[in-house]
Amino acid sequence: MSVPCKYIFVTGGVTSSLGKGIISASLAKLLQARGYSVTIQKFDPYINVDPGTLNPYEHGECFVTDDGAETDLDLGHYERFLNESTSQANNVTTGRIYQSVINKERRGDYLGKTVQVIPHITNEIKRRIKLLGQTGKYDVVITEIGGTVGDIESLPYIETVRQLRWELEKDSLVIHLTLLPLLKTTGELKTKPTQHSVKELLSAGIQPDILVCRSELPITEDIRKKLALFCNIKKDAVIESLDAETIYDVPLLMQDEKLDQVVLDRLGMGLHEEPELKKWKEFLSRLKKPKSHVKIGLVGKYVELKDSYKSIVESFIHAGAVNETKVEIDWIHSENIFPENVADVLSGLDGLLVAPGFGERGIEGKIEAIKHVRENHIPFLGICLGMQCAVVEYGRNVLGLEDCHSAEFHGNASNKVIDLMEDQKNVSAKGGTMRLGAYNCAIASGSLANNIYGRDLIRERHRHRFEFNDSYKEEYEKAGMIASGINPDSDLTEIVEIPDHPWFVGVQFHPEYKSTVTNPHPLFVAFVKAAVTLKQ
Ligand code: GLN
Repeated sequence: MSVPCKYIFVTGGVTSSLGKGIISASLAKLLQARGYSVTIQKFDPYINVDPGTLNPYEHGECFVTDDGAETDLDLGHYERFLNESTSQANNVTTGRIYQSVINKERRGDYLGKTVQVIPHITNEIKRRIKLLGQTGKYDVVITEIGGTVGDIESLPYIETVRQLRWELEKDSLVIHLTLLPLLKTTGELKTKPTQHSVKELLSAGIQPDILVCRSELPITEDIRKKLALFCNIKKDAVIESLDAETIYDVPLLMQDEKLDQVVLDRLGMGLHEEPELKKWKEFLSRLKKPKSHVKIGLVGKYVELKDSYKSIVESFIHAGAVNETKVEIDWIHSENIFPENVADVLSGLDGLLVAPGFGERGIEGKIEAIKHVRENHIPFLGICLGMQCAVVEYGRNVLGLEDCHSAEFHGNASNKVIDLMEDQKNVSAKGGTMRLGAYNCAIASGSLANNIYGRDLIRERHRHRFEFNDSYKEEYEKAGMIASGINPDSDLTEIVEIPDHPWFVGVQFHPEYKSTVTNPHPLFVAFVKAAVTLKQ
């Protein structure tokens, strides 16, 4: 008889933003290192069908998977920690749940019945929770429930977890993540908010099995005992989660606290081998003992909220470790860059990254910044909109094209060097309608990109509507900007570079979505390397 898949539910209490995603990813990493096959999924309690229509101020970066799902940024952490791809099934929102229930209702699947939150919505949540487990690929599925226990929006999920705990019995457990606030006046960690949060879960019929407590100070034996007593939890299942120097320390902190062992014990699973995490530890030691330092400017329009560029920041951390270099990011708001101050604003930078984005705000600042680094031979990486801006800049300032722009911002420009893709021309709906997910890209031999990837064919993830306008390709190539990466199926230009520049690369895709701890992205690694080398 095959062993049933085990389900771990992770809920949050006391406040939001305690890092359920990082705790889930850390636990998954430890179980994976013990030889188990694990995946993580996140259920988000908002009504958007996916986060693709949310602006980054609302919800941080939108992470895109190989299969083209626009998802929560926690999926990025799952991939970076586990080094495995996630998919649409790994992220479900309330909007998606309701959409499928309403579609079924319209089709007549529930004919004659009143459609209700319980059982129809909860059954759909249950079905989605079990989807990955039923593939037979995983020993353990970790399900993170977004939001905080007690939120109105979370109720159907909490109710589903209650039902599933009942149904799955010993094949499931609940981890509750809470905060022990520190009272500065007395220097004490307080347990009351955690006790209340567990009571809230109990009133929904759920007894958590494990408490993970975020804390600024180590948790004393007395506090562990107190929490165990008041929350009906064994003392070894009260896990301390101290504020860490980097998120990549958390798996090791959780290992010290034996979170993985407690989980395996409660699920009746063997311990297998002790996690070695050799590569992980090597990465951490390189990250913490850098031998050099570079300053990279990140030009974007959401720079006040660092979560908007989460995957880019993490890719720099991975690439910095490979190069034993501390990558300091200088956050630059594109709306603050003008011809008069560009040299000042960008002074002292060893490299410049122009970020992805949508909408006209800050575009001219991005173009100005690119002109500066192109003319001053400073390494440049343009991602998606950043690449499109590089093409517009080159068109205006090198090819001398009048009224040259992207059709996204100037639909009537005489020279639309970036134009709407053919198959986007009749699309008006905004949700899930872009060119999304992984596509092949053939790389020209002898190009910088070829040298960086060391391959002729790559596969990268996309999220955009516009593209390089092919009718200008010859003119650009003659003037010195070449298309070094082409989609072999559609002929779309995916990479541009300037061979006469020391390191100038624009990519239509998003390399940042594919960088992981054990597989740092070659473009970021090479970009940081160029910044280090050219600085000397
Ligand atoms: N707004 C641009 C487009 O839709 C770029 C998108 C992006 O940077 N992800 O093509």
